Amino acid sequence: MSERIKAIALLSGLDSILAVKLIQEQGIEVIGVSFTTPFFGSDNVYRTAEQLGIPLHVVDITADYIPMLLHPRYGYGKNMNPCIDCHILMVKKALELLKPLGAHFVITGEVLGERPMSQNQGALRIVERDSGAEGLLLRPLSAKLLPPTIPEQKGWVDREKLLDIRGRSRKPQMALAEKFGITEYPTPGGGCLLTDPGYAQRLKRYLSFNPTPEKEELELLKYGRHFHVANTNNAWIVVSRKKEENELIIANMHPSDYLLHLRDLPGPRTVIKGKNIGNEVLRQAAALTSRYSRKAREREMVTVVAKKPADKQAQEIVVSQAEIQNLLAELKPL
Ligand code: SF4
Repeated sequence: MSERIKAIALLSGLDSILAVKLIQEQGIEVIGVSFTTPFFGSDNVYRTAEQLGIPLHVVDITADYIPMLLHPRYGYGKNMNPCIDCHILMVKKALELLKPLGAHFVITGEVLGERPMSQNQGALRIVERDSGAEGLLLRPLSAKLLPPTIPEQKGWVDREKLLDIRGRSRKPQMALAEKFGITEYPTPGGGCLLTDPGYAQRLKRYLSFNPTPEKEELELLKYGRHFHVANTNNAWIVVSRKKEENELIIANMHPSDYLLHLRDLPGPRTVIKGKNIGNEVLRQAAALTSRYSRKAREREMVTVVAKKPADKQAQEIVVSQAEIQNLLAELKPL
């Protein structure tokens, strides 16, 4: 009995769904793969895989993603999105799964010319070459415009049944979606935070505070208000904005961080990151903790508790409203 040919599909938005459909139509079994990092997740891809009737493998690639993000060989897009290097890494990771999943090649929903920087002829070639996928990376939507791949050469896939979509117009994809009866699909990249100007700016500033961040620090950047105390002290302060963020902030703390809260009143949780945090920064963080509590603003004097997880004893910091004004005069949220 001949071996059943299997493909691994990088699942993201509509284009990848269409790519899967085209390959499934040729009798090839498809396995979905989705990658997660602090910047994008797989939440909405579960539904996609379910609709396509394919298994889904979700892999956290943060450990490999961070070094790439800090020094992307092909640079950033408009914000902090290193799209070409990101594609290279994802294809590389998908290739690593070929053997364990018993698959033969990788498919993506990339369309030639759809994104001028990351999906032009040169970029598609670079992704294939630098990921080590030579001949094993098939883009069904634009395949006829690209050199034949191994699956086409070996006759696993009929090249004639693949497409020649090019450019930014989404009309061919919409028509194809209609043909396949697809009405529901997620945003490509799962709403990648690296393309978000606000997050990108915060991240850039954070890298000036700590050029080698860990996963938890990148997670933390997603929540709360952030302040960089960049004068003689180099400290980073995060203040939660709502109750639900308190736990998220605590969950992504480092054991060397300070955690602050109001002693007698409801209010935010504040984290201070940095080495050799002195009294001045502690008082600034205490002022911020008071500033963002409605109840604390009504009091003349406020007591804030500060403690590192390993500290036996907490410190109490008392700040007055006048001092809070002074301490916060030059601190602006990022
Ligand atoms: S938008 Fe984000 S997830 Fe998509 S390729 Fe670019 S960096 Fe990667």
